Amino acid sequence: MTNQRHKSALSHLAIALLLIASGGWAHAGEVAVDPADNGADIRDDTTEDADSRSSEVAAAAEDFVEVVPEHSLDVPLAEAVTTAEGLAEPLLLLGAEIAPGTSQRLSWSATELFEGVPVSTPVLVVNGALPGPTLCLTAAVHGDELNGVEMVRRVLHDINAEKLSGSIIGVPIVNVQGFRRGSRYLPDRRDLNRYFPGNPKGSAAARIAHSFFTHIVAHCDAMVDLHTGSFERANLPQIRADLRNPDVVTLTQGFGSMVILHSTPSVGTLRHAATEAGIPAVTLEAGGPSQLELTEVKHGVKGIETLIGAIGMIRKRRMWGSPEPVYYRSSWVRADSGGILLADVSLGSTVREGDLLGTITDPMNNARSELRSPYSGRIIGMARNQVVMPGFAAFHVGITTTETPVEDDAQQGEPAIAHEEESASDDYVDGMSE
Ligand SMILES: [Zn+2]
Repeated sequence: MTNQRHKSALSHLAIALLLIASGGWAHAGEVAVDPADNGADIRDDTTEDADSRSSEVAAAAEDFVEVVPEHSLDVPLAEAVTTAEGLAEPLLLLGAEIAPGTSQRLSWSATELFEGVPVSTPVLVVNGALPGPTLCLTAAVHGDELNGVEMVRRVLHDINAEKLSGSIIGVPIVNVQGFRRGSRYLPDRRDLNRYFPGNPKGSAAARIAHSFFTHIVAHCDAMVDLHTGSFERANLPQIRADLRNPDVVTLTQGFGSMVILHSTPSVGTLRHAATEAGIPAVTLEAGGPSQLELTEVKHGVKGIETLIGAIGMIRKRRMWGSPEPVYYRSSWVRADSGGILLADVSLGSTVREGDLLGTITDPMNNARSELRSPYSGRIIGMARNQVVMPGFAAFHVGITTTETPVEDDAQQGEPAIAHEEESASDDYVDGMSE
């Protein structure tokens, strides 16, 4: 345990150093942006025993305010580059002006420490020399999800502003307070990704969410929010997307060799709030929390760079690999007994109905039980080997279906595409959704 903490702390330190040392970038003076009402006092929110579940109740009771995006495409995302006219314009963000063909590192600050010191986090911006849409990449909305932090850094430092159509805004660490403590949550144990688009008069989480949404997200034309599995679980690199939205489908098709899982985003997630505001958004999940996994990082970077080429923001990028299957349904296989979970499959394994996924052994009486797959499909997420309680979600199976999903029938209001089997609230208790 101590060792793990140590490794995690070292990874955080390494990332912080990388971000500080990002040479070659014009560094605009610290542009601190405060929420409209800066009287946020985090201590007010910690008087009750806010654990993750009560914070969900708080999130549900929270009023969200509508945020109108400053950018809004009036053409489908797929045509955003080809229909862009005229010369590229300076990008105005966080009080700075980024000229076409240049890159800058800005700073966003949503809240303050108890001592009144602003907590700021880097915002990397590349404004292309050619006109086009603004793509946003966000990571570490959950502070312990490190793979995305490194993906954003790599993509943003790899882009040549001279050859870019449109602009890319990258925020490697959205939840900087959680990141510093190696925690998924904000200091008051609220999950930031249940509070978007936020409220300037709400809880600390709602205020941070509102500041982020109005000052950064509202400038985006499309978004990729980067996550990992949670609580000692890892995800096969995958895109989670609401496939009923045509612009979201355009995004999913751009990633090349990446599994796609249809999922309706929960209210309060960045993906939900952005899409509701007319900014198509997907979640890229890769690997597990509290670790830097180079294979997953490289997979994600390749997917994002393929996307940038696919929507025409960079020319001459070849499509990467053959497309992976789309899963319209998925289900978590749960432990029925407590004990030591040892997996017999790995991430990406293809399974058939009845296949052995893993065993659980009771360390006291040596009783052993088996976990078998109720479905044919693929392992798209799984728990690391650990001690589990009955009910623990252990294996996430993307279910192979033969029938083609029917198109969404807007008349009926109910989507014909099957939802994930787990209800949103069930997902939340285990922290399994983004
Ligand atoms: Zn997450």
